[in-house]
Amino acid sequence: MIENYNFRTTPFREKILSLFQSKEYALSLEEIENGLDQFDRITLYRTLKLFQDQGIIHLVNSGNIKKYAMCKEECTSEKHHHHHHVHFTCDKCQQTECIESKPLDIKLEGYQIKELEVNVSGFCKNCL
Ligand SMILES: [Zn+2]
Ligand SMILES: [Zn+2]
Ligand SMILES: [Zn+2]
Repeated sequence: MIENYNFRTTPFREKILSLFQSKEYALSLEEIENGLDQFDRITLYRTLKLFQDQGIIHLVNSGNIKKYAMCKEECTSEKHHHHHHVHFTCDKCQQTECIESKPLDIKLEGYQIKELEVNVSGFCKNCL
C-alpha cells in the first residue's frame, strides 16, 4: 500500500490510489473525477503528477483521451522500467488495459528510442 512509497500519505492520495487499485483498466481524468465525491482539481493534478513521478501510475495515450494506468511493482521513482506491454483499447466499451507482451524489437537506424508506446485497438474479452 501507500506506506511503501516515499512520500507523505494523505486521505486524498489514499483515495486516488484505491481508485486505481479497484479498476483493472486505465482511468481517464473524467473517470477519476467521477469516483471522487469532492475534490480540488489542482490537488488532483498534483497527485497524478506525483504518482507518475513515483512510478505508481503511467500515462496512456489512447486515441485523443489521456488515461492513467497503474504501474507494475518494478516501477520506482528513479525510473519507470520499460513497460513491455501494449495498451489495448476496446472499440466497444472504450476501456484501455495494459497487456503484457514480449519486448518489442524495433530498431530505427541512426536514432535512439527513448520511449515506445504501442496502442492496439479491437474488442476486449468482455466484448467479444
Ligand atoms: Zn511505470
Ligand atoms: Zn470491451
Ligand atoms: Zn500501461
